[in-house]
Amino acid sequence: MPYFDYNATTPPHPAALAAWRETAEQFWHNPSSPYRAAARAHALMEEAREQLAALVGGSPENYVFTSGATEANNAVFAHFAKSSPPGAQVVVSAIEHPSVLEAASYWFPGRTHLWEVNPRGTAPPLQMLGREVVLVSVQAANNETGVLQPWNENAIRVQAAGARYHCDASQWLGKLAPGKLVDCDFVTGLGHKFGGPKGVGFLKIPPGCDFHGQRGGEQEHNHRAGTENLPAIRAMVAALAARSAELETRQAEWERARAGFETALLSAIPGTVVVGAGIPRLWNTVMFLPPRHANTRWVAALDRRGFQISTGSACATGHAGPSHVLAAMGVEAEAARRAVRVSGGWETTVADWAALAKALSEAAVELDG
Ligand code: PLP
Repeated sequence: MPYFDYNATTPPHPAALAAWRETAEQFWHNPSSPYRAAARAHALMEEAREQLAALVGGSPENYVFTSGATEANNAVFAHFAKSSPPGAQVVVSAIEHPSVLEAASYWFPGRTHLWEVNPRGTAPPLQMLGREVVLVSVQAANNETGVLQPWNENAIRVQAAGARYHCDASQWLGKLAPGKLVDCDFVTGLGHKFGGPKGVGFLKIPPGCDFHGQRGGEQEHNHRAGTENLPAIRAMVAALAARSAELETRQAEWERARAGFETALLSAIPGTVVVGAGIPRLWNTVMFLPPRHANTRWVAALDRRGFQISTGSACATGHAGPSHVLAAMGVEAEAARRAVRVSGGWETTVADWAALAKALSEAAVELDG
C-alpha cells in the first residue's frame, strides 16, 4: 500500500467497519432514551467502556468518550482552570500537539511553562516543580518524529511533587502496549490513529475526579454532555482490541521493516539525516532531513508517484514555517524546512517500504535534475 501517512490518520480496520455498521443499522437509538431499544444501546456503550478499560487499564467509570483528542486535551486544561486556586500554573512540553499547547496557554495565560526537550526530542525528567504547578502534560509519543517520551518516570516525579500528570497518548495507543499508562492521572486516546473512525476518542480521568468536560446533558456519568456517538465508540474500541491482539507478536517484524527502509533511504539519498536515529521511536515513523529541496517538493514528487507522505503534522499543513517540534529539538529552520515524515502502519509490508525507498530515490533524481 502506498499510504505512508498513518500518523495523520489510519485506514479503517475491518473490525471497526463491522462494529460501526452493525451499530448504525441496529443500535442507533439514543442511549439515554427511556425504552428497551435505547437501553440496549446504552448497555452496548457500557460494554465498550468496560472493554476499553480492560485494554488500557483501570476502571470503566474513569473513561469518558469524547469527540477526539482535541476535545479531550482542551477539556483537561479547562477542568484545571476551573477547579484550581488563582495563580495556579501548568507545565507542558515544547513538542506537544497544538491541542495541548494552545489549550494550556488559553486557559493559563502567562502561567503556562514550556518544558524544553533535549536534542534527542525527549522531555528529560523534571527536577523541580513549584508548588503552584497543578498539572504537567507530556505526550507519550511524538506525532512528527515518533520519539517516545519517558512518561512513566515523569508521571512518578510529577505526582510525587503533588501535581497531576496528563499524557496525550494519541500516537502510542494501538501501536505499542499501554503498559502503565493507566498510572498517569489523565490519558488521552484517539480512535482514528489506530484504525477507528475520526471524531471519536476518550479521556481517562483519575478516580473520584469531579470532571465536567462540557456542560449540558448528564451523559457520560455526568462527565461530558452530548449525545454519544455509539457507532464510532464501538468501532474505536473494536479497532483497539484488534490492534492490541497483533502488537505482541508482530512488533519485531514491523521494526525490521522500518529499519530496512532507513538503510535503503540512506544509501538512495546520501547525506540524509534520520531524526531520532538510535532513540526509541514508534516502529512506524521515520522523519528525515534530505540534504536538498523543500519538503513540499518531496511530498509533491512522491504524490506524482502515487505515494502519500507528509511534511510533519497534518494539522500544520499549509502553515508557513518549520515544525515547532524540530525547532524545540534545536534543528535549524533551514534544515527543518526539508523535513519529511513517512509513517507506515500495521498493514505496511517490507515490499511497501522498499517501494517507498525506490520512489524517493527516483524523486531525488527528478528534483536534482
Ligand atoms: N494529539 C496528537 C498527539 C495528535 O497526533 C493529534 C492528531 O494528529 C491530536 C492530538 C488531535 O487529534 P484530533 O484532531 O483528531 O482530535
